[in-house]
Amino acid sequence: MDFFDLHCDTVTECRKKNRRLFDNDGHLSVCKANSLDRWAQVFAIWMPDEYRGENAVEYFDDIHECFRSEMADNSLYIRHCTSAADMESCFSEGKAAAVLSVEGGSALAGSIERLNYIHTLGVKLITLTWNAANELGAGCLVKNVGGLTQFGRQALRRMNDLKIIADVSHLGRKGFWDAAGCSSVPFVASHSNCCAVLDKTRAPSDDKYFSMLRSLDDEQIKFIIRSGGLIGINFCNSFLGDAGDDGFEAVYRHICHILDMGGEDVLAVGSDFDGCGINPELAGIDKVPALADYLKSRGMDNKTVGKIFFDNGFNFFKTML
Ligand SMILES: [Zn+2]
Repeated sequence: MDFFDLHCDTVTECRKKNRRLFDNDGHLSVCKANSLDRWAQVFAIWMPDEYRGENAVEYFDDIHECFRSEMADNSLYIRHCTSAADMESCFSEGKAAAVLSVEGGSALAGSIERLNYIHTLGVKLITLTWNAANELGAGCLVKNVGGLTQFGRQALRRMNDLKIIADVSHLGRKGFWDAAGCSSVPFVASHSNCCAVLDKTRAPSDDKYFSMLRSLDDEQIKFIIRSGGLIGINFCNSFLGDAGDDGFEAVYRHICHILDMGGEDVLAVGSDFDGCGINPELAGIDKVPALADYLKSRGMDNKTVGKIFFDNGFNFFKTML
């Protein structure tokens, strides 16, 4: 089967745990993906919230070097792509297409010059914030709102010019609507699920409330559908459902919620592999074909499953890059 995954943290894990992309004990490796036909993978350089300014720049450069060396070591199997034509040629050579992203605008260290530099490295998607506030805006854990900053708006407009896709996963609600008002092109929520499907009894005092803050409410989902963006379903256990109810059936529920709202053309997968705890049913890129079979067994037609797992993501990147 074909698979287009909008988000994984594998490169960061490779650097931190001295793993290799070719074969490792994590969720994603070249070996684990070998049953896939066309495979496009967005690899994020994850920016922890404790790094800002010069420290964030150094951290980014270090993880980027790991990405660069893993691409070189695995050049027989996967290649860093910066255009749709690149991706097509990878597929025709039987290779996987890697897309580089940054999870956290702190990598810009508050500088448009740094954004221009990151663009020259072939970064094609930037998640504006992680959970805390950064120079661009307020993440989902920032209390008492706070949306995009003036620099955040400036950076977003420059990303539009550079054809770097904006990603609103992790962003607070006000920041989402600020981005909606500011971006001249559709954006993505690369790895975010639906608030409405999670346990509605979760209160702000509850540990699990984080999963509500990290998920999209129906107004946000409707906006992404209207504007022609993308929503990548996240496999993180607590964003899917309660313990023990966070496997295939939970993925089915989140997908159905977005399909019921008319989102057939914006649904994709943002697995979050190597970035979070995942139910054993879903815990690895080798499990993706079984998930697709499960969705078909629940009545989803081949065309819809094909859109979710590959076509919507690929079409969006073809239009945007
Ligand atoms: Zn994330």
